[in-house]
Amino acid sequence: MIEWIPFERLTNIQMIREVELGMLYMATWLDGIRIIEGKPVEYTQSRIVSCGVNLIILHDFQTFELLIKKLKNYIQLEGNFVYGITHNAETNQYIIVIPDEFNSIRKYSNGICEHCKHYNTSPAWCQSCDPWIATQKWTSGNEVINNFIKEYQFKATEYENVIEWIQFDKLINLQEVKGESNIVFIATWVKGVRTIKGESGKFTQSRTISSSVDLIKLNYSQSNTSGLLENFKNHIQSKKYRIHGITQDTETGQYMLVIDFFNNKRIPVNGICEHCKRYNTSPVWCQLCDPPKVDQETSGDTKIDDCIKEFQLRATAFGTVIEWIPFNRLKNIKIIGKGGFSTVYSAIWLDGKRMVEGDASLSYVRSRKKFSEVALKTLPGSQTSSSKFLNEVSQIYSITVFWCNNARMYCVHYLRTCMFDNLNHF
Ligand SMILES: [Zn+2]
Ligand SMILES: [Zn+2]
Repeated sequence: MIEWIPFERLTNIQMIREVELGMLYMATWLDGIRIIEGKPVEYTQSRIVSCGVNLIILHDFQTFELLIKKLKNYIQLEGNFVYGITHNAETNQYIIVIPDEFNSIRKYSNGICEHCKHYNTSPAWCQSCDPWIATQKWTSGNEVINNFIKEYQFKATEYENVIEWIQFDKLINLQEVKGESNIVFIATWVKGVRTIKGESGKFTQSRTISSSVDLIKLNYSQSNTSGLLENFKNHIQSKKYRIHGITQDTETGQYMLVIDFFNNKRIPVNGICEHCKRYNTSPVWCQLCDPPKVDQETSGDTKIDDCIKEFQLRATAFGTVIEWIPFNRLKNIKIIGKGGFSTVYSAIWLDGKRMVEGDASLSYVRSRKKFSEVALKTLPGSQTSSSKFLNEVSQIYSITVFWCNNARMYCVHYLRTCMFDNLNHF
């Protein structure tokens, strides 16, 4: 049944968003909703005191007659449930009291919302109160972009997934990035990435001050904001990486997404990257910072150097980095097979294979297995043309690890028989 609720029995009133009838609020109803308790035959009337409810404060001034008409519509035609009505004498506004839309997902373990004082809907996030707060106190300077960002903020179901407008001057230490990832800069975001602190039941919203972030360009034509928003939307929907927000280079006018490109791969057990201070993407390897830093000896042929560099930039782990090996670092070279087009040798590689030592509990370190046994195979045609060699290199990349030496051979791990077997197929 619908009841009259004295306005002073409603506390912790917090704005949520605008709806058709008026403005939606979250509140605590001190007397609480009516329930029936007990077993069959012994039912008793009861109330859930201090429960969460939503309020709709009707647009503009409303007469009581108009309120009744709208209320009838709301309940009978639209099939909505209403607990009661109230009136704020100070502002002379009629208010409809309805169920809390997120009641079913509020949980003790998520902590308590500091605005409405009810359990949060996800850790440190109240889906009633927090989206509204996220939409306040910032502007991109462009109304269309503001509304676009706010639309996503209103839908945010978790604190760490909120997309925000990031002022360009809050991004410092911009460094250009070369690599496979479309990232143009890495930068330090002074305000920092959203992170949840604390334990179950006591989660709080926090930020990692001065976080390292990645910037990618949003392509669009200067005159066409809808193209920009379309592009922005595609990035959000692709869910390929964590998006912190959007910024605009104040000098060039270029809009850029602020993201963590490899967020899905960054886990604590891999250790922390010394350069960007984020978790590595594989043990002791940051796929963003480490590939461009691989020391590279020259092969004496720029085409081969470029090819190796290209593979290095794609390296996803320390152990799979392809490198140029000077021929004098290979000893004990013996023929072990001869085919129609190539010869296979065994050899000892003095510097040895790249390895990662340690385990998840101890942490990992980079090392080399000095004096590794390896196999070498000559590449057909490689004496005359580096482009043919490169062609074969790109073909075999997916099945084996290889290194080059200045006799234009490549080698694979001799001891790994599956790879060695592959040699027979070339
Ligand atoms: Zn709340
Ligand atoms: Zn890094």
